[in-house]
Amino acid sequence: MDFLPVFLNLKEKKCLVVGGGDVAVRKASILLQAGATLRIVAPILNESFELPPGSEHIAERFQLSHLDGMTLVIAATDDAAVNEHVSREARQRNIPINVVDNPGLCTFIMPAILDRSPLLVAFSTGGASPVLARLLRGKLETLIPQAYGRLAAFAERFRNTVKQRIDTSSQRRIFWEDVLDGAVAEKVFAGDEATAEAMLLNLLEHPHTQAVGEVYLVGAGPGDPDLLTFRALRLMQKADIVLYDNLVSKPILEMTRRDAERIFVGKRRGNHTLPQEEINDLLVRLAKEGKRVLRLKGGDPFIFGRGGEEIEKLSEHKINFQVVPGITAASGVSTYAGIPLTHRDHAQSCVFVTGHLKDGTMDLDWDLLARPKQTIVVYMGLQGLEMLCTQLVAHGLPATTPIAIVQQGTTQNQRVVSGTLATLARNPEVAQLHAPTLIIVGGVVSLREKLAWFKPEKAL
Ligand code: SAH
Repeated sequence: MDFLPVFLNLKEKKCLVVGGGDVAVRKASILLQAGATLRIVAPILNESFELPPGSEHIAERFQLSHLDGMTLVIAATDDAAVNEHVSREARQRNIPINVVDNPGLCTFIMPAILDRSPLLVAFSTGGASPVLARLLRGKLETLIPQAYGRLAAFAERFRNTVKQRIDTSSQRRIFWEDVLDGAVAEKVFAGDEATAEAMLLNLLEHPHTQAVGEVYLVGAGPGDPDLLTFRALRLMQKADIVLYDNLVSKPILEMTRRDAERIFVGKRRGNHTLPQEEINDLLVRLAKEGKRVLRLKGGDPFIFGRGGEEIEKLSEHKINFQVVPGITAASGVSTYAGIPLTHRDHAQSCVFVTGHLKDGTMDLDWDLLARPKQTIVVYMGLQGLEMLCTQLVAHGLPATTPIAIVQQGTTQNQRVVSGTLATLARNPEVAQLHAPTLIIVGGVVSLREKLAWFKPEKAL
């Protein structure tokens, strides 16, 4: 280890920054964030930089007297001789010095910082490659959500209480693991600190003898794993058991915890779906067994996803749950197909409907749909395509209105067939399409030629 990482308390301590350009200002801002009082020495200071009260700008070249009373020094001028001079003098006075981009002149180096205050992660390559440190910070950024800062602050509030109530450090550790990796933490992440506090105090009175289950209702997006949210991914890595259906793509399923049990609850052979009632009951039973259950759904759980029915049942049984929104097919699939859902020249409104056929017909408000300057997105509509086109024209949309069908949007198997309300249903390519497909109707479809950017590698 070439350097010892430590976290300095600079609150109200005087720190010197020599230099007034972009780099100096960046370093000065970090020192200010840490509560330092600054002295900036530079003939010219970057105009956009505002010094808070208490800090000073000395518009001079560096002089030895500027070091008086300083706790720490950063030299960030573009003059190597000045930087070296500052470094030499600071070291002589035993004041920690950092010279930007010159590890040889430093007694300390600045790490890349991931700030989730009060939680802090500092990265350093010991000066070998600051860019690499920043890249790594970017990766960790995705693993440590913003909410961890709130969790750390929450834990701090109860630190003393817990210390007083639980005598041994090993028992305290078990208690905190329970809190920080369980339902209490999830409540903090979800922004409900009042409930989290009640749960923590309750846990303090009655420590768990048995794990408490919970359910995560998570939207997995339309197919491309890159469209998952950070929260979705975190809960996918945490769950003990996964209930998924046929809309969840394989690469996404593979991102769930490796040793988690996976249960398929979608279409079974012979096309019978597991009745919704049975899925609801299964969620309740598994959570009551103390499991962390992930209910993974395609797109967004609340858009034609029956998520509402599942959580209704969970609340009836007082089971903890949280819902994570996902990118719904209308949004993800249209974007990947190069079709913006609204556009100044083509559509000021957009409606999502289900085209599911019931007794061979579609129960839709055709007058509401057949409006000018509106985009219609139809989920589950392939079987009823012909009826959809006929009805929209019968209710007033021009037969030349553009329409597209997108199969398996956002995946490597994405395929788009487009035409007009008059022609599309007769296009032989439509007969080759298979689920899932999304139908988009409206002027915006005509922009596809110009805007399509996603090129699946393997068109069918
Ligand atoms: N909750 C989901 C929708 C479930 S209904 C969501 O928010 O996206 C199932 C329908 O969604 C499918 O019949 C199809 O119309 C649409 N769909 C979902 N994923 C799709 C995809 N990758 N490509 C095209 N259509 C998709």
